[in-house]
Amino acid sequence: MNSQSSRYTKVDEGALRTWLSRLGGQTRVFAPKSGPKGIVDWAELDDGGLPDLDLGLPLNSIKVFYFPQPEILFTFNARPGQPDSFRLREPEEAGGEIVLAGVRPCDARSITLNSLPYAEDPYFQARTDRLYVIGFPCMEGCSTCFCSWVGGGPGSTDGMDVAVWQMPGGHFVIEAVTEKGGKLMEGLHGAGPVAEPSEEELLHIEQWRKKGLGQAGEDPSLSMRHKDLMACYQAPFWQQVADCCINCGTCTFLCPTCYCFDIQDEKARGIGRRIRYWDSCMFPLFTQHASGHNPRGEKIKRVRNRFMHKFKYFVDRFGPLSCVGCGRCIRQCPVNIDVREVLRDLLAL
Ligand code: SF4
Ligand code: SF4
Repeated sequence: MNSQSSRYTKVDEGALRTWLSRLGGQTRVFAPKSGPKGIVDWAELDDGGLPDLDLGLPLNSIKVFYFPQPEILFTFNARPGQPDSFRLREPEEAGGEIVLAGVRPCDARSITLNSLPYAEDPYFQARTDRLYVIGFPCMEGCSTCFCSWVGGGPGSTDGMDVAVWQMPGGHFVIEAVTEKGGKLMEGLHGAGPVAEPSEEELLHIEQWRKKGLGQAGEDPSLSMRHKDLMACYQAPFWQQVADCCINCGTCTFLCPTCYCFDIQDEKARGIGRRIRYWDSCMFPLFTQHASGHNPRGEKIKRVRNRFMHKFKYFVDRFGPLSCVGCGRCIRQCPVNIDVREVLRDLLAL
């Protein structure tokens, strides 16, 4: 066995099902699942089942697992005069490991991007440490995704621990992307017939890795990097986008790379909690100062900020664009604002 093929194992569908079922016996396994109304979202994987991947991305991104809404940061006894009054306690939430099966490359990459601003956040770190990501690279994109515009691709394994490559002929080649993934794959032994992939199969995977999304037809990511976006700051087209937007925040809550939050303290029946909630830069009060001053009080400023953050400020600070091209904001925006059109308009200025 050469070093290249040693991280790959070829299995049939039965062995894949058995492996996932075994993992489900050890820890909680979540996967995309189609609900009664045809809406796909994350749910515990049925024993012996496979992720539902034919109906597109789940409604929610995987950030619900590593950046949950809400996150209890600590609790405390809020009754004065007791030995433990107002001493902080770790949250009691169960901290078990979670396996996510059927993660697409865009969602997996969100972990890499979010780990940049959250590099020193112990809650984020603890949750991502306990998370095992079994990714399924995409064979084709959908009409609203554009991962290869923004530095990703349908064959990207960035953020995955294990990649499950579906091969022509119906079998799968499973790749250990990280050491964590390699440990997860130990459970494949005895799950069914396993083999080494052939040279042709490994070549097929290498070509898949380099593939762009054919139907996207263009790749503005490079141009975005060289565009002077600050020169577009006062462009009239921002007003047109803002006039359409109703500031509902849907795009930011569903976006895997939006990570803004608010912190609130609550007290009930003598128990206090500090909780981190998702917040949205699209909401008027998000930037309101205690003085009452609001630097983004007008809608145009909030709408512009969402795009400038993703394609300028985040890039200046961390390097990559803060978008994985999943297209959730396009599909779910109630007024059909399309981030790809905003990008095209920006590039045309
Ligand atoms: S901005 Fe839109 S396309 Fe980009 S990652 Fe967020 S939801 Fe997905
Ligand atoms: S989902 Fe659409 S309407 Fe709602 S805040 Fe986002 S861009 Fe505006």
